[in-house]
Amino acid sequence: MPLQVYECPTHGDFEITIKFSDKISKRKQCPVQVEYCNPGGHPGSDYHDQPGCGHYQCKVWSPHVARPIAAAIVEGGTGGGKDMHLKR
Ligand SMILES: [Zn+2]
Ligand SMILES: [Zn+2]
Repeated sequence: MPLQVYECPTHGDFEITIKFSDKISKRKQCPVQVEYCNPGGHPGSDYHDQPGCGHYQCKVWSPHVARPIAAAIVEGGTGGGKDMHLKR
């Protein structure tokens, strides 16, 4: 499954797995669930299900980031000179 990276301006990168049959969308909605609390909080209760509490999906339309997910293979580096022997 190809992974596509999108970047929410608030939550940063997120990955979406798409089917091969799907076209790559230029934008996807951020799937991050954002929790919010009643402005007064809920003192005395740990339950996050008070009126005014909840969560919502960020849903910000985030642009596709053209970036390969697979770890980039860094080629041998530029350690040139290590094996150089200066002749005198
Ligand atoms: Zn977001
Ligand atoms: Zn809460």
